[in-house]
Amino acid sequence: MKSQINHIGIRQAREQGFRYKRLIFSGIFQANNTTKKNIDCEGTFYQWTNETAIKWIHARVKEQKEGRKVHIVCNCCDFRDIELTKIHKIKTNDDCLRVNPSCYGDEIVELIKSLA
Ligand SMILES: [Zn+2]
Repeated sequence: MKSQINHIGIRQAREQGFRYKRLIFSGIFQANNTTKKNIDCEGTFYQWTNETAIKWIHARVKEQKEGRKVHIVCNCCDFRDIELTKIHKIKTNDDCLRVNPSCYGDEIVELIKSLA
C-alpha cells in the first residue's frame, strides 16, 4: 500500500488529494524554525509534556486511521526528494535550495505511522 503520509519541503507542490500540515504550527518547534524542538518535546513521544504538540500528533494519527492523505511540511528544507532537487537546480540554476540533513520531518512521519 502506498503511504498516506509523507514529508515534503516548503517549496514542493501539494499532491492531489493531500492535506498540507505545516510543522511550524505543530507546537513541536521553536518559533518558525523546524530545526529546534521545544524542550518539552524532547525524548520519546511518551516523554513529551507539550499539550499542543501531543494534540497535533494525535490529530495526525486520527487522520491516518481515517485513511486521509497528508503531507507533513517542514520549513528547513525546500525539497525532500533528491531527484526533484536535481531537476529543479538545473532548471533554475538555483544553488540555494536547502535540504537539512538532520531534519526532524521524517522522524515525525515515522512517529505518526507507529501510533496509527
Ligand atoms: Zn526540513
